[in-house]
Amino acid sequence: MQYYSTNSQSPKVDFKQATIKGQAPDKGLYFPEQIPMLPKEFIENITNYSDEEIAYQVIKPYVGDAIPDAELRRIVGETINFDIPLVKVTDTIFSLELYHGPTLAFKDIGARFMSRCLGYFVKDLNKKVTVLVATSGDTGGAVANGFYDVDGVEVVILYPSGKVSSVQEKQLTTLGKNIHALEVSGTFDDCQQMVKQVFTDEALNEKLFLTSANSINVARWLPQQFYYFFAYKQWAQKNNPPVIAVPSGNFGNICAGILAHVSGLPVKHFIAACNANDVVPAFMETEKYEPKKAVATISNAMDVGNPSNFIRILEIFHHQFTSLQNVLSSCSITDAATKDTIQKVYQEEGYLLDPHGAVGFLALHQYLQNHPAEKGIVLETAHPVKFYDVVEPVIGQAVTKPASVQKQLLLEKKSIKITASVDLLKAFLLSI
Ligand SMILES: *Cc1c(COP(=O)(O)O)cnc(C)c1O
Repeated sequence: MQYYSTNSQSPKVDFKQATIKGQAPDKGLYFPEQIPMLPKEFIENITNYSDEEIAYQVIKPYVGDAIPDAELRRIVGETINFDIPLVKVTDTIFSLELYHGPTLAFKDIGARFMSRCLGYFVKDLNKKVTVLVATSGDTGGAVANGFYDVDGVEVVILYPSGKVSSVQEKQLTTLGKNIHALEVSGTFDDCQQMVKQVFTDEALNEKLFLTSANSINVARWLPQQFYYFFAYKQWAQKNNPPVIAVPSGNFGNICAGILAHVSGLPVKHFIAACNANDVVPAFMETEKYEPKKAVATISNAMDVGNPSNFIRILEIFHHQFTSLQNVLSSCSITDAATKDTIQKVYQEEGYLLDPHGAVGFLALHQYLQNHPAEKGIVLETAHPVKFYDVVEPVIGQAVTKPASVQKQLLLEKKSIKITASVDLLKAFLLSI
């Protein structure tokens, strides 16, 4: 499989190069030259396949010859070695719990896959690789955990000071070794901007081997398709495919779902559920894409004012707005409505949502009210305990913290505070 850049100026590359480079030199995003079609037989008999086999079949065409089969099977197996259950919440809404991995959020899947691919690729590079990543909250922990102690890889994480939850902050600032956390006085967009600028700095890139672990990296983006197939495998009414609501920020997750659908996975409709950061909901209304400054919300991992992966969604639909509209709706949910949803669903159904899942739940609930024949799945992207600071006051009681979380909260935070300055970031990168 070859990948072209969405800016069309850079040469095509294979999966290995796309993974190592992260972003294309012309600042575009890598996109697969063809979207593979999965055999009908595979979809129809999906319940007969193990999750490992499904994941392997889905990713194999994208990896091509870049990783030998046995190695790819090992990587896939290690990536999904935790449960991803589909849990009934109401008669019409099911929750796909993506949070049973080591950092309690769906990003574990992409980060675990990518770190293992990169670990395989750097073996014959003879050069240290620096993974540079900006996080609005959850990426940092997943990437730190995925890459911790991987030989030949240093990880530098930028996060907006005061804008991540206590659990999130501890997950990315307490590991040490090859993991470095930079606490930036600014927003996630500032962090992302700094990372983008460093990637295009030629002088620096001659000295260092830099790559990104954000969802723009194909090795993080593509494996996110896996659990859409796992959801369908667990879906009882195969002749009435689900509507799927995805709490969205940088739009990597939903883009992977749409890709899976275009490859043959039955899905009725996708809903991109956003918080107050409503660039995409506005686009779906007006067809005008107007990036904004991110605003802080209680679903902080979705506080993105210029979602990087949206371009890939447009690419899937060859920039045809009407085809996009047939598959995707989008809406914006306020913090007040999010809290109200957490409270109601807890009280009425005994199910505790995290703030991101609650945004998705309400978006789906509203959609189903207008489409009474449908049923749907909300992707529950994080464990509610990760956001206990938000959730506990809403439900008026403590959330039981798993032992791993309790232990982590006691560890000492080690971050390096910097202002949102590219020069400071460059100096730091040269110092490690
Ligand atoms: C990152 C994240 C999101 C947003 O995912 P995107 O792929 O950036 O759209 C949603 N919920 C949680 C909990 C996250 O960590």
